[in-house]
Amino acid sequence: MKKKIEDPLKPIVAVCKRRGFIYPGSEIYGGFANTYSYGPYGVELKNNIKNLWWKFFVQSRKDIVGIDGPILLHPKTWEASGHIEGFNDALIDCKECKSRFRIDKLIEDQANEDVEGLSLEELTKILDDKNIKCPKCESKNFTKARHFNLMFKTEMSKTDLENNISYLRPETAQSIFLDYKNVIDTMRVKIPFGIAQIGKAFRNEITPGNFIFRLIEFEQMEIEYFIEQNTWQENFDSWLIDMKKWCEMIGLDSKKLKDAEHAKEKLSHYSKRTVDITYDFPFGTNELYGLAYRTNFDLSQHQKLSKVSQEFIDNVNNKRFIPHVIEPTFGLDRTILALLCDAYRVEELKNGESRVVLRFSKNIAPVKVAIFPLMKKPELTNLSKKIFDMIKNLFVAEYDETGAIGRRYRRQDELGTPYCITIDYQTIEDSTVTIRDRDSMEQKRISVDNILNTLNENFRPEI
Ligand code: ATP
Repeated sequence: MKKKIEDPLKPIVAVCKRRGFIYPGSEIYGGFANTYSYGPYGVELKNNIKNLWWKFFVQSRKDIVGIDGPILLHPKTWEASGHIEGFNDALIDCKECKSRFRIDKLIEDQANEDVEGLSLEELTKILDDKNIKCPKCESKNFTKARHFNLMFKTEMSKTDLENNISYLRPETAQSIFLDYKNVIDTMRVKIPFGIAQIGKAFRNEITPGNFIFRLIEFEQMEIEYFIEQNTWQENFDSWLIDMKKWCEMIGLDSKKLKDAEHAKEKLSHYSKRTVDITYDFPFGTNELYGLAYRTNFDLSQHQKLSKVSQEFIDNVNNKRFIPHVIEPTFGLDRTILALLCDAYRVEELKNGESRVVLRFSKNIAPVKVAIFPLMKKPELTNLSKKIFDMIKNLFVAEYDETGAIGRRYRRQDELGTPYCITIDYQTIEDSTVTIRDRDSMEQKRISVDNILNTLNENFRPEI
């Protein structure tokens, strides 16, 4: 019997479920592969990341504006972008156990060969030469390799579309390109400028997911940055620096981040240079973010198919041209997974017990402060509720009066709450409370009048 390898994400998946961060999708029907639901704390965490990203890349910059475009775009979009033709995975099925696999992943895993960009014939040959087996049942009885488009199709009631088919967008980028003209016509932007968007993208992925690493429905935070062609190198370099600043701001461990330059022959059809920022996930080093020089491929293609000029008219220098594009792209769900992996710790305590703690950076922690009466007695709970009311509109706060105080601290440690404030009998006498730090577990007494100041100092905006 082969020894089953323990999934390194198991403890993280467990704390996410136990503490209401992330639930498996459609669980009551036995689950639905590669889909998840963000629970009450997961959605707070996600919103904090989105808001910080928007503040850093849109609101605090003069050269970037935001949009929120549709998921369903005119089907011609995907003809122009090359997705109908080329957004494929090469798949095979095992004839014995009926499992389906991506050929490149099978070869990578079993023969340790990178086969990106090879044809179906070449892939099939390697499959035979290297004796690749079905990882589920070990048979070598595969169907012929075939291409499978990753876009989700959906049927529309509109009748002027070919077969009434439309697609859920597999990247948010194209809805930015479709709005580029509206933005230059309405926003008085000058080259260089960027359009940012946060939104859902859909890909019919078949590879098992590693929790929220590979989903069929996920969120991207993307910027298309429009430039003059001869400035692409300096813009590329400066975007790589800004992407690193972002990683630092949300508290990702810089030792786990690396740049991975794509080899020329493996670049996507639209890209002249791509650098991935990879992260050392517990299951291996994998792409977290990407930075691509997309040339003016997309806008030129849209101009060709739509017959609407996509030129930028520079009246000052008397020039007109189709801008080139640098694209920094950030997967939101992968950001959350990397942050969870960084933050998760099991710590031994002095009393011999252990605790699970999520050491999120303060600016992304879902709950900022928890308020506890030491005991569930009216003289303490009434005072605690007053303090909770004073805080709740300024910082995401939680009030908890149930159970032993130690267990309440442990629960907040697992949520990554940076501070816990406890109201005890001394509070009634001298109007002081204890404030406990999540990481050091030290408790200090501060006066009730000083609570808001203390929180303000510790949650100073970091932009
Ligand atoms: P991969 O090689 O892992 O399939 P990709 O190169 O196809 O990724 P891009 O097309 O560059 O990914 O997408 C931009 C970003 O969107 C990625 O860097 C990643 O963070 C995120 N992303 C892509 N596919 C998925 C997915 N299936 N689930 C979750 N996030 C994804």
